[in-house]
Amino acid sequence: MTDLSMTIGGERVDAPSTFGVVNPATGEVHAQAPDCSREQLDQAFEAAAKAFVDWRSDEDARRAALTEAANAMFAAGERIGPVLTAEQGKPLAAAGVEALAAGFWLKYFADLETPREVIQDDAAAYAEVVRRPMGVVAAITPWNFPIVLASWKIAPALLAGNTMVLKPSPFTPRSTLLMGEILSEVLPPGVLNVVSGGDELGKWMTAHPTPRKVSFTGSVATGKHVNASAAPDLKRVTLELGGNDPAILLDDVDPAEMAEKLYAGAFDNCGQICSAIKRVYVPEALHDDVVDALSARVAAAKVGDGMDPESEVGPVQNKPQYERVSELVADALAGGATATTGGAPVDGPGYFFQPTVLTGAAEGTRIVDEEQFGPALPVIPYRDIDDVVERANATTFGLSGSVWSPDVEKAGAVAERLECGTAWVNAHVALGPHQPFGGFKWSGLGVENGPWGLAGFTEIQVQYRAKG
Ligand code: NAD
Repeated sequence: MTDLSMTIGGERVDAPSTFGVVNPATGEVHAQAPDCSREQLDQAFEAAAKAFVDWRSDEDARRAALTEAANAMFAAGERIGPVLTAEQGKPLAAAGVEALAAGFWLKYFADLETPREVIQDDAAAYAEVVRRPMGVVAAITPWNFPIVLASWKIAPALLAGNTMVLKPSPFTPRSTLLMGEILSEVLPPGVLNVVSGGDELGKWMTAHPTPRKVSFTGSVATGKHVNASAAPDLKRVTLELGGNDPAILLDDVDPAEMAEKLYAGAFDNCGQICSAIKRVYVPEALHDDVVDALSARVAAAKVGDGMDPESEVGPVQNKPQYERVSELVADALAGGATATTGGAPVDGPGYFFQPTVLTGAAEGTRIVDEEQFGPALPVIPYRDIDDVVERANATTFGLSGSVWSPDVEKAGAVAERLECGTAWVNAHVALGPHQPFGGFKWSGLGVENGPWGLAGFTEIQVQYRAKG
């Protein structure tokens, strides 16, 4: 028994066994979560398939239910926040905001118009393109934004008329279990099923014969496995994967002004954002001033348990990730880089790492070439625009990037040359439910959000009526 249950067919269901969930602020197991059995996963898919029959048939009912789901999430911040902070580590205020953001996403899709498109109306025929639901969706989420990223899948998939089985990361299962319990109060049984378990459960889901679509957010390595696993029966797949976003500063930026913006873009959520700034490119002449201003801002960040209202930066979410960040920073330092602030784990319990700015690390260093996904940021000098654009694009990642300058046109011209799903000017991690979000190259397949994300949960059907 655990205090939070899986939701299968509208019922709260315990699993035959449980697994421990660690609080990253202490490094200790603080709670248990149900470990879904294979039979229970079958039951979840069966419940979703059964619910699909009615759910697909009434769009008005779906919109009404999604509006209620949005309201339930708007009201859930104080319930979800502490559960999320205890397992994820992020500051409590940010954890509560995840519930609000999920409400915002649900409301956006509840209200999104889905017009039928007439493609022919002449003497021969009347023809329309319409969108049909796919059936049952298997949704798999990571540990950095468990609630928000679940809503990116739930809202469009359900609006389109699909039903879902959702599995959160084993590192952060409890907030999503709670979300499932809350939404089960307003959604018909079986429309949204939430199960928890380890990575093995994810493998069972992608190989299962029932779902027609896998919607996955996580790492590149796992995304490739998911794609392969979904291929034999041609399940549709959307993959939102990792990034190694460059931020390019042009030669007319004000270093003092950039400090706060770079800090927010790189260190929010302890740097654990797929589209966080992970490399900063600065003109040689501005390098030292930018490093000084940024280092001062980063050094001032208060690191601590997310339950402490003073904390700006929580712990790294889990031990393997903490070890990875530690390893990448140590590797850079051993290769001759300098930490102008931070550079090491924080002494004491939990997975705390000092927010770190690195200079003297360039391409060829792991922390520049790989996705660090943590509170450590390399600042890299460049000579000219052609050089920096080439270096920004010379990666297998292509999630997003940004260019910064008071001259928006000049920055926009450089942003046009970035090979990535979102190219920002004077912003980074500026996301919304109306904006399609996805990656070029190994950063993903397909997009989420907006009408384009909704389309990813549908099949196109032509309705053709011959005349005469
Ligand atoms: P992960 O790939 O390790 O795990 C993600 C999910 O996949 C978890 O629920 C996990 O249990 C499950 N899983 C693991 N192996 C599986 C398998 N073989 N088959 C099916 N499911 C499996 O990723 P993570 O460490 O939880 O998340 C961090 C990564 O996610 C980073 O690379 C980050 O950039 C990426 N991410 C991407 C986006 C985006 O929208 N592009 C958003 C957030 C995070």
